[in-house]
Amino acid sequence: MAMRIVPHWINGGRVEGAGERRLPVWDPATGEQQAAVVAATDAEVRAAVQAALDAQPKWRAASLSRRAEVMFRFRDLVDSGRKEIATLLSAEHGKTVADAAGEVARGLENAEFAAGAPHLLKGGYSEQAATGVDVYSIRQPLGVVAGITPFNFPAMVPMWMFCNALVAGNAFVLKPSEKDPSVSLLLADLLRRAGLPDGAFNVVQGDKSAVDALIADPDVRALSFVGSTPVARAIYEAGTRAGKRVQALGGAKNHMVVLPDADVDAAADAAVSAGYGSAGERCMAVSVVVAVGSAGDALVPAIASRLGKIRVGPASDPDAEMGPLITREHRDRVASYLSAGELVVDGRDHPATDGPGFFLGPSLVDNVDVGSTLYTDEIFGPVLSVVRVETYDEALKLVNDNPYGNGTAIFTRDGGAARRFQYDAVCGMVGVNVPIPVPVAYYSFGGWKASLFGDLHMYGPEGLQFYTRTKVVTSRWPTEPPKIKSETTSEVDLGFPKVR
Ligand code: NAD
Repeated sequence: MAMRIVPHWINGGRVEGAGERRLPVWDPATGEQQAAVVAATDAEVRAAVQAALDAQPKWRAASLSRRAEVMFRFRDLVDSGRKEIATLLSAEHGKTVADAAGEVARGLENAEFAAGAPHLLKGGYSEQAATGVDVYSIRQPLGVVAGITPFNFPAMVPMWMFCNALVAGNAFVLKPSEKDPSVSLLLADLLRRAGLPDGAFNVVQGDKSAVDALIADPDVRALSFVGSTPVARAIYEAGTRAGKRVQALGGAKNHMVVLPDADVDAAADAAVSAGYGSAGERCMAVSVVVAVGSAGDALVPAIASRLGKIRVGPASDPDAEMGPLITREHRDRVASYLSAGELVVDGRDHPATDGPGFFLGPSLVDNVDVGSTLYTDEIFGPVLSVVRVETYDEALKLVNDNPYGNGTAIFTRDGGAARRFQYDAVCGMVGVNVPIPVPVAYYSFGGWKASLFGDLHMYGPEGLQFYTRTKVVTSRWPTEPPKIKSETTSEVDLGFPKVR
């Protein structure tokens, strides 16, 4: 049977790629190739940017109510298509369908937020700033903006970006991950069905070469990136050098601090769901538990006892709780870290690893040395390290000395300790007895330090700020008495005023 080819989406429809270079899309559960991405040529990237450029003035001219209405409709289409989106997504990513449905639900929040964006797109107004002079600000779109997204949230992360970008009146070009590219086309089709004009949203498939073409294109005004830190840094530097606005979110090493007074069962449940959910392939996954004082003595066995019960299996198994990793190469890299440290549970022994799929069982490593690569590297797999320290201050120092600063959490019954941690942690997102503190869509998402390059966080109010620029108008009008309209030019309309 011929290999399925994943097309681009340019100017409102699917376009077969004409490029030479093919990239495999695996089925991580079976280890077989299920499709191929044809990496976009420079001419195809240009065609997508040109389509966006042509569509943007008309889309920008659509009233705010109309743009919000498209987001409302898109929200409803995503809502009713949840199952289909989640199933397609998990078939390429490998996460369970329930987890994929959770991702879609969190993505949906961004369409809901964008539907209410007119409130945040208002400017300010100062009457009589000087005699007869008024000053006011307006927010305008940037034009054509692009998003480059990672494999681990192929529906949610694009929605973090394009919902706000579009409602603000921009046109968008998405370069999704080449590892699970198909869901982007489904989202493109839902946007079309929601009433978005052709060309306002485009998808180019590929890898670095497509990204380089977007960076080089002078008509792309801004880049939003989510992925690993080395690529985030490179895109930030190249994009800003090319005069673009850039927000580039990078990797993470999230610490969960457990104080001795914490509820052991609640902390163990949280560590397991945050450490092994989506096989640890989340930028907000907990990868280090910092057990303070005696906390580790009960916590480590409590976590270990839960790991045997996790059902590892393909996304197509409705009872599976943890799927495979994204590629064989990545699975082998994650497994290679397990040769160091005090292994309490070794995922390499899990029966799921016997088959051809890219499976690795959950692993737990105790007394991890903070000098080891197991501690210093972002592993991005189902491996939880436990570091034991004596005091709160030592735990805080670990969090704050880490080069990453995406998320962190504290588990305690002591409100004062939690308040102190919230105040002290050098990190963009903090959980108090909440292990994965991904903000709701009306706050913004972003880490600090090597987890974000740029000034503005993603989605929410900062997302809208990123995709708009402010213009300030200073105006003076002669204040003559108003002229009375003559009867011949006056128009009477008894209808209620419409906004569309
Ligand atoms: P990645 O950096 O390999 O790829 C991300 C995107 O960049 C993909 O679209 C890819 O095609 C493209 N890309 C890869 N190499 C490139 C290069 N050299 N030049 C230009 N573009 C390039 O990341 P990934 O493996 O897809 O995703 C996992 C990483 O993403 C992890 O490090 C994870 O922490 C991070 N992540 C961060 C967040 C966050 O919000 N901070 C969220 C999700 C994932």
